[in-house]
Amino acid sequence: MTSSTARIVVVGGGLAGLRTVEELRALGHQGPITLIGAEHRPPYDRPPLSKQLMMGAVDDTSLRAELDSLGAEIRLGERAERLGDGVVRTDRAEYQFDRLAIATGARPIALPGPGRQRFLRTIDDALALRETLLPGARLVIIGAGWIGAELATAAAARGCGVTVVEAASAPLAGAVGTEVGARTAGWYAEAGVELLTGQAVESVQYGGLALAGGGWLAADEVITAVGVRPDVGWLESSGIKMENGVAVDDQLRSSIPGVYAVGDCAAFWSARFGRRIRTEHWDSALRAPVLLAANLTGAQQRYDPVPYFWSEQFGRMLQHVGDHRAADRLIWRGGADGPHWAACWLAGERLVAVLTVGLPRDLQQGRRLIESGVAIDADRVGDPAVPLRDGVR
Ligand SMILES: Cc1cc2nc3c(=O)[nH]c(=O)nc-3n(C[C@H](O)[C@H](O)[C@H](O)COP(=O)(O)OP(=O)(O)OC[C@H]3O[C@@H](n4cnc5c(N)ncnc54)[C@H](O)[C@@H]3O)c2cc1C
Repeated sequence: MTSSTARIVVVGGGLAGLRTVEELRALGHQGPITLIGAEHRPPYDRPPLSKQLMMGAVDDTSLRAELDSLGAEIRLGERAERLGDGVVRTDRAEYQFDRLAIATGARPIALPGPGRQRFLRTIDDALALRETLLPGARLVIIGAGWIGAELATAAAARGCGVTVVEAASAPLAGAVGTEVGARTAGWYAEAGVELLTGQAVESVQYGGLALAGGGWLAADEVITAVGVRPDVGWLESSGIKMENGVAVDDQLRSSIPGVYAVGDCAAFWSARFGRRIRTEHWDSALRAPVLLAANLTGAQQRYDPVPYFWSEQFGRMLQHVGDHRAADRLIWRGGADGPHWAACWLAGERLVAVLTVGLPRDLQQGRRLIESGVAIDADRVGDPAVPLRDGVR
């Protein structure tokens, strides 16, 4: 076997899996490729599910109608159940491989209780949920994270009575911390959405929610949006190293030779941030497969991007670059009352993350400062009249 004729199996028919197959063929890989996807549908985009699709602007987010041109064996509606030595076992067959790409994404976390919980991960979830967004329906969304905020935006616009229950003291607390998240709290009321923070949900019951501490919240529909977990249960018996997902190195290689992972299910080693990072970002699923395909066919390229994510909520465009977990200082650009502002996180003298609200230029300039790792001047960064790029010390 040479690397150009290797048998490559890709498990997971989402964006990262599809992009891996596309990039392998774009690189001229001639060996057999099999793509195994548990969903019956061809790969599709998820970001519009909570935005344009939920608002009724689109019904279909398919990534490509024609998979045939990739010259790959496409196995849809088939679930990988086990990884053995050089073989993937599914609920239907076995596939030998020389190299394996794991791209099984993530699945929503459910809460306890017998009541019906809806989730928003697949297009089928989204289409079914959209049917329930009728004027006057009482919708309770558990979790004021990215998905909860976007769904609340759409549901309120469609005339539902929307309550968002959040265990933390502010929206987006898990993603950007309470201080930054608190700046978004007023947007809910502006849109006619009731936001209850500091309210943990104990269980989902018939007709509503039991709150920790004894309260009750009635609901026609409950949507649980408290986050996702990497969908890696099928790898349990393989002995593959896990660390909040499949642990991969800076070349996206797992602990098992010839086995790689990418997208929402993979936690990669980032030299830039000095830690393993698992992103749940469309941009990573789009771009990392370029490098993965090269490495699957013999290259040894290093993966160390500045992660990027966006969200559209309450009529605003939010964009986030970097990783702020090592930050020791937060600097604002612009006041909370204005329509546009940015939060800049510093670790020592380096910028490590930026969140912008309606400031795409700050986002681009911030990304370059993070990439270059230059020392910056905090006073200049905090002055919105100074372009962010001129914040260099
Ligand atoms: C509603 C919604 C809105 C979003 N909005 C944004 C946004 O605005 N901005 C942004 O940056 N990101 C957004 N995201 C996140 C982004 O969509 C994900 O990061 C991206 O889809 C990850 O791609 P993936 O291919 O790694 O995983 P997935 O898209 O989860 O695909 C994995 C696929 O693998 C399949 N699979 C799982 N287990 C198995 C198995 N054992 N065998 C075979 N197949 C399996 C799954 O069924 C799934 O089809 C959003 C996500 C959702 C759900």
